[in-house]
Amino acid sequence: MKKNELTSLVDKMCKRLLVVIEEQDDETTLEQVSSYLNESARVIANLNEDKATNVAYTEALFHNAYEDIAKQSISSYKDTNDKMKKLSKLHEKTLEECYSEQIDLESITSKFNEIQNHMTDEVNKANKVISKLTSQVKHLEEKTNLDALTRVFNRRALSSYLDNICSNKKPPFNMHLLILDIDDFKKVNDTYGHIAGDKVLIFIANVLKKTLRDGDKIFRYGGEEFVIVLNRIDNDRCIKISNRFIKLIRENKLIYKQDKLNVTISVGSTKFIQDDSPDSFIERADKALYKAKANGKDQLYTEIKDGI
Ligand code: GH3
Ligand code: MG
Ligand code: MG
Repeated sequence: MKKNELTSLVDKMCKRLLVVIEEQDDETTLEQVSSYLNESARVIANLNEDKATNVAYTEALFHNAYEDIAKQSISSYKDTNDKMKKLSKLHEKTLEECYSEQIDLESITSKFNEIQNHMTDEVNKANKVISKLTSQVKHLEEKTNLDALTRVFNRRALSSYLDNICSNKKPPFNMHLLILDIDDFKKVNDTYGHIAGDKVLIFIANVLKKTLRDGDKIFRYGGEEFVIVLNRIDNDRCIKISNRFIKLIRENKLIYKQDKLNVTISVGSTKFIQDDSPDSFIERADKALYKAKANGKDQLYTEIKDGI
């Protein structure tokens, strides 16, 4: 680098430094100026000989290095300044307190206790409101998702459950869906009355509830139809469980006004497949149910083929 180029570079560095000092809101510290000059010296010392002939490059390098340092030091200065202001205020306050003639420790302590008690009261009140609201929300959720008669999930709950399952990125390939329909239920109502019919619905829901595992779900799908979703289960187990429901309901006689009610159910079952929507999933089970009825009722028809 030629002498005149170096002179011009240092001249620009100095002018830039003066401008930045002027631009600062607060006073520039000696430390900042010294760190600026040190960094400039470091940048010049590290100049590559070839590139050093290029004054523009050297200026840019120097300018960038400076800007970083200036930013860092300004922010750390502001930080320190803020901390110092806070400390000095605290100091002033402490001094005032010390010079004050009346330090009533007892009254300060009692005021402090008063505030603390007040805060504890408020927190307790807030906690009570929160737990009341939580139980109200839970109650509302139950009310909107449960069937009032049988206390199993309702059709609305089924719809949102299947929407969730079908929009999941990981399809639940070991999920099975069963539709159960009470056989000749109209006859039960016609023979014993609607109340007896309601009792049959409750009885069947209870048998199903007792038989299902955690994680399996039961929904009242329509008048005398239930949907059961079995999770994490293979085809054989699904067939066994479905046949167990059919057997349990056939054998568990319900007594109504000294009469034994013979109730049977038909079941259609299917398995979740890739790209199923709630409708397509239910529709396959519904078709299977139709076949179970057509084959003579009180039985299972499964869509699931071996090895699928
Ligand atoms: P299938 O074997 O073909 O299913 O014959 P079904 O008589 O069971 O079927 P159908 O669809 O002809 O009749 C269903 C009956 O279910 C008619 C309706 O009165 C009765 N039902 C629907 N919801 C309720 C309810 O909440 N309580 C009572 N007691 N009966 C209901
Ligand atoms: Mg029906
Ligand atoms: Mg029926």
